[in-house]
Amino acid sequence: MAENTPISSINKQGKTVLNQTIESLRKVLKLEQAKGYSDKAVMGGLDRFLRNLSPRDDKLSGLFSLNYSALDTRAREKWVRDTLKQLDAKERRAPPLLTQTIIPSRKTAPSRPKGNSEQSLDSPITLIPGIKAALASKFDKLGAKTIRDLLYFFPRRHIDYSHRKLISELEVGAEQTIVATIWEAAQKGPGYRMRTTEAVVGDESGNIRVIWFNQPYIAKKLTTNSQIVLSGRVAEFRGRKVFQSPEWELLESDDLVHTGRLVPVYPLTAGLYPRTVRRLVKGTLDRWLPELPEFLSENVRVSGGLLPLHKAIRQAHYPDTEQSKDQARKRLAFDELFLIQLGVLAKKRDWQEEGIGNAFNTDSSCLEPFFNSLPYKLTSAQVQALAEIQSDLSKPRPMSRLLQGEVGSGKTVVATAAMLLSAANGYQAALMAPTEILAEQHFNTICGLLSRAGSESSDSKPVRKFSSMLPHPISVGLLTGGLKESAKQEIQERVSADEIDIIIGTHALIQKGVDFRNLGLCVVDEQHRFGVMQRSALRGKGSCPHVLVMSATPIPRTLALTLYGDLDLSVLDELPPGRIEIKTRFLIPEQRQKAYDFVRKQVAEGRQAFIICPLIEESEAIETKAAITEYEHLSRNVFPDLRLGLLHGRLNSADKDEVMQRFRSGELDILVSTPVVEVGVDVPNAAVMLIEGADRFGLAQLHQFRGRVGRGQHQSYCLLLADTPSAEAKERLSLLERIRNGFALAEEDLRLRGPGEFFGTRQSGLPDLKMAKLSDVELLELARREAIRLFNADPYLKQPEHRLLAREVSRLWNSEGELS
Ligand code: ADP
Ligand code: MG
Repeated sequence: MAENTPISSINKQGKTVLNQTIESLRKVLKLEQAKGYSDKAVMGGLDRFLRNLSPRDDKLSGLFSLNYSALDTRAREKWVRDTLKQLDAKERRAPPLLTQTIIPSRKTAPSRPKGNSEQSLDSPITLIPGIKAALASKFDKLGAKTIRDLLYFFPRRHIDYSHRKLISELEVGAEQTIVATIWEAAQKGPGYRMRTTEAVVGDESGNIRVIWFNQPYIAKKLTTNSQIVLSGRVAEFRGRKVFQSPEWELLESDDLVHTGRLVPVYPLTAGLYPRTVRRLVKGTLDRWLPELPEFLSENVRVSGGLLPLHKAIRQAHYPDTEQSKDQARKRLAFDELFLIQLGVLAKKRDWQEEGIGNAFNTDSSCLEPFFNSLPYKLTSAQVQALAEIQSDLSKPRPMSRLLQGEVGSGKTVVATAAMLLSAANGYQAALMAPTEILAEQHFNTICGLLSRAGSESSDSKPVRKFSSMLPHPISVGLLTGGLKESAKQEIQERVSADEIDIIIGTHALIQKGVDFRNLGLCVVDEQHRFGVMQRSALRGKGSCPHVLVMSATPIPRTLALTLYGDLDLSVLDELPPGRIEIKTRFLIPEQRQKAYDFVRKQVAEGRQAFIICPLIEESEAIETKAAITEYEHLSRNVFPDLRLGLLHGRLNSADKDEVMQRFRSGELDILVSTPVVEVGVDVPNAAVMLIEGADRFGLAQLHQFRGRVGRGQHQSYCLLLADTPSAEAKERLSLLERIRNGFALAEEDLRLRGPGEFFGTRQSGLPDLKMAKLSDVELLELARREAIRLFNADPYLKQPEHRLLAREVSRLWNSEGELS
């Protein structure tokens, strides 16, 4: 059978005699050992077997002048042992055996560091032989700066070249591997340049031609009669099979790198070639992996069923089997999640220990007038969340809670009630929104809610005052970066003087100059726009204020616990009743006119529409330019008779405000916008959301856009346009047609795009995940469980056996600049 054929014995006639002989002899001798040297291993006895061994190869001849049957047991034993040793020696001289899957055994002995004791895992990769500055800068682009980075520079995937075939068995089209002898190799090609390498190779079953286009230099390396491993696709040319530009590797050592195994496929960049990367990573593993300390305790490793670190890293690059690759991924993914958990837990501990917060009196009778004035009944999810919040607020330990609920689930009213409680207790409350538009909208919404319950005693925007709801009047202020300097200053002063009870704003709130006299509660809206840092900064504005974080991105629960493990979780998993389902359609480019006609029809019926321009990640400037162009095109050529407005991130806040105001009041029919309107904007009369370049957005984000409509009593529509969507994008977009539940969509989004894309790591304020898939719930839970267990036993990771782990946690978090 081909797969058991020792490759070292493939001779020119395609025979494998010598090693077959050695193999069968070895088997017989082993059996003879097992049978206690009774000469029963083969029928007729060993002497006869040896006489009949064919061929009578010279190299074996020494073995045959023997009378085994005449020896006593001890002499037999010695002879068998010596002979087996000889056979081993012969084999070591020959190239190695290929085992069934051609996976070589590992070399373990690393070469020691060359003298320089300054070298460490954190040294730049230029210390690695063969990596000069130019190459290093290419690795840098891919995120590998240090030797440690290179150990963790994992392949994107592997190609399975582990199944060896005989040449006669090769099939056209499939990925296959052969081991063969090189008969001839030369540069060929038209003209004097001879750009191609052509070779003929053979094994015991036949010969095949091999062509490498544009790689003439290979020819020089292929010495006639040497053994080569070829992995790749076989094509048919003029009725004959040809290997076309296969991966190749001379069979010089037992450590295959490019062929004959699960071969890693690394991320590349211009000028960085697969063979180079494989060679360098392989060298780095051999030399440096032994220096990498195992930071997980035996305890955690065993209880999690995790590979040792060295094995995991090696197997992640050069796996022996698919299974060991999975195990490697499991260990490395566990590390990431575990370290994140430990960092997050430390964060929670730190700020809970910062000091004692303020226990509010949460007797809700003071909220009665407010609840009674609402135009609707709270959903049971809202009631539940509010109860959880009230319970937190009543304790001296500061609240740290995430209120998660999808678009339209009614988070604002919950937050407003919490802020009212804060005011009732004589504390200030702050609400931070990610954009000015949203801050203003919150300001208006909240003032609207309060004005139903209390009578407004003054109306001098940006501060409004409501009385007769609480025993004392409540003043609500707005602070955004876009305010005039004098207005800003005035608000700041009034905040410092404790004349404002509820202040709503953008990140202007956390800037210098804003000094709260008496901050008792911080509410942060749309969490994923802010990093952990900003959360901490706002928290730092008071002495241990309670913190409520609101997120409209529905995050699967386990994921939320991991990413926001420093927060407790309340979920609004229910929409207020009576919402009309938003009809969603994914349209092909040919249907764009239909989409425009539909918008026109809706406008004729008195509705309004959003048109969202594609997401352009390079820069806000380019995105803005694209939006302006689109706006002009639509105004001139498509809807010349309608009233269009344009909203983009580069408008100053007065202009933004004006456009929004005009849209809200119905002076505009269509609002063309960059993706800045993504979150929170509330215009009940808007019934159409048309999204251009929909394939560039994540499902969760598209769902957010969709949530901008359907806020009134009108049937609403979401139209998704994509110019040349990939098959995968089509799949994603059609999910949106079917799935309305934000949590279900979020799960799908995670599954399809992975967490990096899902959040945009930049926004999540979390370390990059290379291996962990956040859809892997079991592993998430394992990591969380282990982290909590460890944390309870040794919260500061001070015990000597946790020293390495503590270093790893701080490396991960500090390198991201977030929790340092
Ligand atoms: P979110 O911020 O969670 O996206 P909002 O707080 O903006 O949602 O609420 C969305 C809409 O639902 C608002 O118009 C609000 O007035 C309304 N709403 C909130 N709670 C309820 C409820 N219990 N019943 C009916 N409508 C509600
Ligand atoms: Mg909201």
